[in-house]
Amino acid sequence: MHDQRTHGRDHEDPAPESHSVDRRAFLMSTGAACLGCLGCFGAGGTGALGAPAPPASRRRSQDPSQQAPLRPSGSSTGAPDFTPIREIDYYDRLPEQKIQCHVCPLDCTLKPGETCFCQTRTNVDGRLYSRAYNNPCILRVDEVEKLPLNHYRPGTRTLTIGVGGCNLRCLYCQNWQMSQQLPDKLKTFNMTPDEVIAAARKQKIDTIAFSYTEPVAFFEYALDIAKKAKKADMRVVMATAAFVQTEPLIELARYVDAFTVSLKGYDEAFYHRVTGVQMAPVLEAIKTIKQKTDAWLEIVNLIVPRYNDDPDTIEKMVDWLHTDVGDDTPIHFARFVPMYQLSNLPKTPVQALEKACELARNAGMKHVYTSNIAPHDDTNTRCAKCGSRLIERLGFKVLSNSVKRGKCPTCRTQLPGVWS
Ligand code: SF4
Ligand code: SF4
Repeated sequence: MHDQRTHGRDHEDPAPESHSVDRRAFLMSTGAACLGCLGCFGAGGTGALGAPAPPASRRRSQDPSQQAPLRPSGSSTGAPDFTPIREIDYYDRLPEQKIQCHVCPLDCTLKPGETCFCQTRTNVDGRLYSRAYNNPCILRVDEVEKLPLNHYRPGTRTLTIGVGGCNLRCLYCQNWQMSQQLPDKLKTFNMTPDEVIAAARKQKIDTIAFSYTEPVAFFEYALDIAKKAKKADMRVVMATAAFVQTEPLIELARYVDAFTVSLKGYDEAFYHRVTGVQMAPVLEAIKTIKQKTDAWLEIVNLIVPRYNDDPDTIEKMVDWLHTDVGDDTPIHFARFVPMYQLSNLPKTPVQALEKACELARNAGMKHVYTSNIAPHDDTNTRCAKCGSRLIERLGFKVLSNSVKRGKCPTCRTQLPGVWS
């Protein structure tokens, strides 16, 4: 998830009364949209930055015969303090019951009984289990625009799921109360993947979204939900910071229709200082999604005053997007609102967002948006050829949509995206 819009959250929206929505109440009504996610920083972890690249395949065998039964109690490390349901797919077993996780580039090594940097995985007697599984703390009905996705079935609704924990430490995390917690220690809905699909069906929603927190942290739950969703002929979209290794990313992308990636800046020092992780793997993941998967991709960049609003750096970022990702990939510049450990900063001035939009258009990007600010003309979608206004929005609400079979009705130019 990722930031003040990036993991699906609008800072201009009213704060939810509680993130622990009553499950029965949810199933009986379509909930209001809520805030999204931003980050925090500074908590210690076992992850090692700059760890060596993983071997060709880190996926463990899923043969149940190779899964040693867990000892519920009386083990050398004592009973786990959670119910181990789902084993992690990507880790190596090391001597002395240590394990090394390979879901994200941190490559955490854990001794028995230890829980990882992202707070969602625990070594139980030499096997790595998810604490996030079946434990969503957010379950909401949103517009797909909230991820943000402006070129993916505009105006459709998503059943959006968030789970505690995160493998980043963004200083401005809007959902830090969830992203920096053990997922099973929050108030949760306790829903299996089948129950998530059933809840979406009950609401007559055909798209599952992962947002508000970081799906990489609840990768196994997201993957199993996404697989069930595909079997049920539903769509899957997700907002992510994309700090993930290539192999799990490609596996998940087989079941994901659209990604919004939060590219938080374009400077390694900024990434380290504000998110706690490296930038290079994020750039690699963006290219992987674009070049090696069939999923639709949009990018969001939260502009934080004095941290990543330098025009030269933004220019480099949009040049990279233009060259390595493509001019038809929508880019959203989101407004920062003072939050968490950056609550001393001002909101992003509108002029800074407009300047970023100008730089992106000058670089040749065809679909450039502002986010977290309304009303603003740059929330609307225009034809890149004739300039006709095709989709009019107020914030995340679609007010009108004249796109016809993915084309501009005026000049018949194809609009990049997914329209049905
Ligand atoms: S800490 Fe995690 S959930 Fe919060 S903004 Fe950063 S990536 Fe998103
Ligand atoms: S996903 Fe979690 S446990 Fe795995 S390497 Fe990343 S931070 Fe560590």
